[in-house]
Amino acid sequence: MTLAIGVDVGGTKVAAGVVAEDGRIIAKLKRSTPAASPARTEQAIADAVTELLAGHQVLPHLVTAIGIGAAGFVDSARATILFAPNLAWRDEPLKQRVEERLGREVVVENDANASAWAEARFGAARGYRDVMLVALGTGIGAAILVGGELYRGRWGMAGEPGHIRVVPDGRLCGCGNRGCWEQYCSGNALVAEAREFARRTPEGAIRLLQLGGGAPEGISGPVITQAATEGDPAALRCFQIVGGWLGQGLADLAAILDPACFVIGGGVSEAGDLLLDPARAAFERALTGRGYRPLADIRVAQLGEDAGIVGAADLARVSSQAAPVPTADLQVVPQTTAPSSPSSGPSGPGSFIRSTSMANPVTNAATAQNAAMPDTDQPAAVATTK
Ligand SMILES: [Zn+2]
Repeated sequence: MTLAIGVDVGGTKVAAGVVAEDGRIIAKLKRSTPAASPARTEQAIADAVTELLAGHQVLPHLVTAIGIGAAGFVDSARATILFAPNLAWRDEPLKQRVEERLGREVVVENDANASAWAEARFGAARGYRDVMLVALGTGIGAAILVGGELYRGRWGMAGEPGHIRVVPDGRLCGCGNRGCWEQYCSGNALVAEAREFARRTPEGAIRLLQLGGGAPEGISGPVITQAATEGDPAALRCFQIVGGWLGQGLADLAAILDPACFVIGGGVSEAGDLLLDPARAAFERALTGRGYRPLADIRVAQLGEDAGIVGAADLARVSSQAAPVPTADLQVVPQTTAPSSPSSGPSGPGSFIRSTSMANPVTNAATAQNAAMPDTDQPAAVATTK
């Protein structure tokens, strides 16, 4: 048996765990993130790994891989965090910095990608090879698996459907545009909907206001979920609205990706069918070709907040088995005319091994990923398609 360590780095917490090959977490710890300082965040990651290794005398030699799932845009070499909305990382060579601190190799991945990988390997999408994860939290986090492989895009930034504009000149988004999907379909959107309703129609929002401590500002996601679970019409209406936006957006995504399964994660998904029933109804109404095509499954994520740890660990384990992993070239079609950017190249001595060699066995890594994935919904699609 081999073990891997996964570290999930978000804007508020660093969570790390020792993960077995079957996805079970054997040991786990959680710290708050010193988010304002890149160096201190990196030290917190290294400390978490060191502490997990030190806590178990037998572990160090069993731990064969270390993975980091980070809440940010990870470059295609999977070494540098180009930008992190809730952390101070800007063009930060995270892989190199953590490897320097630990003296061991680490694998870096976007946190939503790590979660999707975990759900497909061990959770709600087990057995599916074409999967999209949509996580509703502050905004929308998402990840795409095509044929059992993570689809990262050419520059590592695929899977940001939260900023598809669904309402022309709609609500202002933090990204600077208007009418983005996550302004209508997210934890923040749910809360905004409920507070707005309570302000406008307090007599219709008695239960929401009660649970929220009397003022609209006290109404939170868990409050809305609790009220809806009790059957409160105002809370149910909020889930109808957000669920409707969810289903409509999933139909648009299905028009592009045609996945077998959507996994809905994030805090809002804890409401389960209160959210998913209206989502499924809207999905069926909006789906192009409806009535003449199979419907994708829409399921609630199963691994909860552990998904990032489990996925980061398992991706690192799979990568280590496929070594040397040509990370930058996993999905690269030969293309030499792309503009070079300082961040897409090797970022230091610790990382260049992976991105410079076109002669590396690209297909080995792809095959290893495929081999790691169950193969039930699309046996014909296994492939080294690149
Ligand atoms: Zn936006």
